[in-house]
Amino acid sequence: MNGFLKTSQLPYCKGCGHDLIAKKSAEALEKLEYAPLDVIVVTDIGCHGIIDKCLNTHTVHGLHGRSVALGAGISFGIENPGKKVLVFIGDGGSTIGLQHIMEAARLNLNMSVVVHNNMLYGMTGGQTSGLTPRGFCTTTSADGNPFAGYDICELAHTAGAAYSSRIMGVGDISGELTEAFSVEGFSLTEIMEICPSYGVKLNPRRKLAEIVESSGRKTGVWKNERTGFVLEQGKKCNDLMEELKEVENDFPARLKGNLSLVLSGSAGEGIQSAATLLAKAAMRSGCHVTQKGSYPVTVGVGFSTAEVNISTEPINFHGIGVPDVAIITSEDGLTHSKKRIEGMKGGMLFLDDSLDAPSTGAEVIKRDFRSVGARSACLYAVFYFAMHTKLVDTEAIFMTIEESGMAAKMPLDKIKEKIQA
Ligand code: SF4
Repeated sequence: MNGFLKTSQLPYCKGCGHDLIAKKSAEALEKLEYAPLDVIVVTDIGCHGIIDKCLNTHTVHGLHGRSVALGAGISFGIENPGKKVLVFIGDGGSTIGLQHIMEAARLNLNMSVVVHNNMLYGMTGGQTSGLTPRGFCTTTSADGNPFAGYDICELAHTAGAAYSSRIMGVGDISGELTEAFSVEGFSLTEIMEICPSYGVKLNPRRKLAEIVESSGRKTGVWKNERTGFVLEQGKKCNDLMEELKEVENDFPARLKGNLSLVLSGSAGEGIQSAATLLAKAAMRSGCHVTQKGSYPVTVGVGFSTAEVNISTEPINFHGIGVPDVAIITSEDGLTHSKKRIEGMKGGMLFLDDSLDAPSTGAEVIKRDFRSVGARSACLYAVFYFAMHTKLVDTEAIFMTIEESGMAAKMPLDKIKEKIQA
């Protein structure tokens, strides 16, 4: 055990090659003189991934096949060259997320990927993966896989990886791993192993070396003479947080406690932007706010619903079941939010004149919201809500619109006229 591992008792089945890989990877990192917190290990779904809890490094556990994409994001964000991004992935994850590997290799991102290739999905019961060799028996190819597996090293090499290697997962592989982890740019090391729980049982009398050899795969190293990725080569990445303007707290607080709102209408009718304007106006009065949008995947048709929580206290849960206030400006919105409205035991329902109010315990307030045009109906309704309840300052909404630069696109004079009538 060294400083990278908390224990030498790793949580794998007896004889599993993942044990060797984890320990030898730790040795390689130590040889390269990384401190544990200089290393970010991203693991994938699979037995190898349960190593997280045994590591003293930073760890991120990814979705199946997405660990290389996560590692790529971390690699993009790291400015300190003394850090190491190391991705552990299985043969199943490698083929689920093959495109991520190809892109990371193509860009030659500064990261090392270790493919734990035991030739099947171990964690889920021994199924065939994209790297299972022809003839290898799994629980889903009992007579032997009829197809050849991908050559992951060749794919990474062809895509442009600075370094690709295939090694057998036996003996002291720390030297090979040290070489791979010291590469400037993208390195992928495929380590061949056999899962004792499924691979050995389903392929009795077969030895790892013979299986690899008969699959036509050779151990070795393949290199592309390239320098590692530098950010300036790629698309300029802006810091989106820096572009966000701080919302000034320039209006007195009006709300006491919490208020939850659901704004619902039709796609393309400005529901989300009206909700954002309301949320920002509330922030101007010193409130905490959350906003969440919901709409079909076909974003241009159907309903569009926004949920806004406003509170004088920090908001720890942003879900809204039954809201305090519902603002409904179209049939689509009413259909989508009907059940919630029916569940309201009090509060207020602001409803367009064209719609029939469902059965509800809320006070129903009907107005001609759509008279200012469908695209501004929700904005008018938000102003009307603010004016009617006095919980949010209408001036704060107007100022937020002015600052957003959207004023010219909105019928503000008409809305002002309407709410003052
Ligand atoms: S099921 Fe197979 S891959 Fe998973 S820990 Fe056990 S031996 Fe290793």
